[in-house]
Amino acid sequence: MPFAELAFPSPNFAAAPAHERLGVCFHHSVMDFKTTIAHMLLPESQVSYHVLIALDGTRATLVIDEHIAWHAGLSVFRERPRCNDFLLGVAFAGDTYAAPLTDEQIASALEWLAPRWQRHRWSSAVMTDHRQISPNRKDDLNPAEWQRLFSAITVRFRD
Ligand SMILES: [Zn+2]
Repeated sequence: MPFAELAFPSPNFAAAPAHERLGVCFHHSVMDFKTTIAHMLLPESQVSYHVLIALDGTRATLVIDEHIAWHAGLSVFRERPRCNDFLLGVAFAGDTYAAPLTDEQIASALEWLAPRWQRHRWSSAVMTDHRQISPNRKDDLNPAEWQRLFSAITVRFRD
């Protein structure tokens, strides 16, 4: 049974240049699912993820993959800045320092990744989180939860 996926188009995106989709940056949103969505629907917030995953695994699509969402800010991945141009932003509702990811959140993330993994020829090497691309500025995910997620990804995709 797939998880529900709902569209909440955010005004906070750039349609050009086309998103390169070289990999994924994972986040937690700190706020709960509904509050995060409401925040990202406000033009003045100037922030968005491509997808937000609720505690029960429900996904909210805020920005389509083809467009640039505004999730990473000042960031560097493999010595390349402006990660928003080439990493999709996937966020888990909640705070991974306050509570671990739910099993449903991890399963839903794997479900979201599956069709894209082959399409974009991703590997675990292009999976990262906000803490790693914006060190000393951002702390999401909790390293223990990142490790749990990363292990689940490597098992699921045998990578
Ligand atoms: Zn973040």
